[in-house]
Amino acid sequence: MENWVKYTDEYLNITISESQQEQFAIYEKLLLEWNEKFNLTAVRDVEGIRIKHFFDSLTCTKALGNLNGKSLVDVGTGAGLPGIPLKIIYPEMSLVLVDATGKKVNFCQHVIQTLGLKNSMAIQARSEEMGLTREHRERYDVAVARAVARLPILCEYLLPLVKIGGVILAQKGETAAEELAQSKKAIKMMGGKNQNILSVSLPIFEDRRYLILIEKATSTPANYPRRAGIPSQKPIQ
Ligand code: SAM
Repeated sequence: MENWVKYTDEYLNITISESQQEQFAIYEKLLLEWNEKFNLTAVRDVEGIRIKHFFDSLTCTKALGNLNGKSLVDVGTGAGLPGIPLKIIYPEMSLVLVDATGKKVNFCQHVIQTLGLKNSMAIQARSEEMGLTREHRERYDVAVARAVARLPILCEYLLPLVKIGGVILAQKGETAAEELAQSKKAIKMMGGKNQNILSVSLPIFEDRRYLILIEKATSTPANYPRRAGIPSQKPIQ
């Protein structure tokens, strides 16, 4: 564990306590174990899990700051990324993990239970459906997504879930600037406003990644998001 924890200190200014390190160690063990049985994530080695999953998830704090006291929804969370690492670091944050795939949601529920994460739940749903329900529409301070869809589509997934004054954060690779340029219409239509791109780099792998942060300024029109599947088939562009 020591090495990657040293990197979060150096690169992200995050000191991971011993009890948080224990939680990461349990999460890592569960990822390794479940990956043997199910295809949870493509990264299957310990160094990859620590840097490409845990560290990479925690880079969100560069854009979001301290999340204690905030509500966060992680759409297309898969095995709980980036939501679970953020929750370990900010235990006073409330967390909703969402994925369309049952086995991934089962895994997330198991991690929540095993780590004893408070104010956390995992839901099997499509974001398009959640975005139309009273329980989830415009309820969150922050919505995040990593490796889920191109940004014009993500805007339709995430912005309906966020309160006015809240933000969405998309974790992206090299295509970030291009995707942002293609998302002007979707951002405006979904009620988004100011945007910002931050570049972050991963230790060891030297990968360059980007965080796209978009504020929500006005309500999303009632007829959005569109039916499940439509945003990806016919992105707003
Ligand atoms: N965020 C995780 C990560 O970075 O490791 C998982 C990424 S995985 C490539 C994408 C996940 O998004 C899949 O598990 C898929 O089921 C989920 N997904 C895609 N579109 C979705 C939607 N509209 N609503 C809910 N889940 C969705």
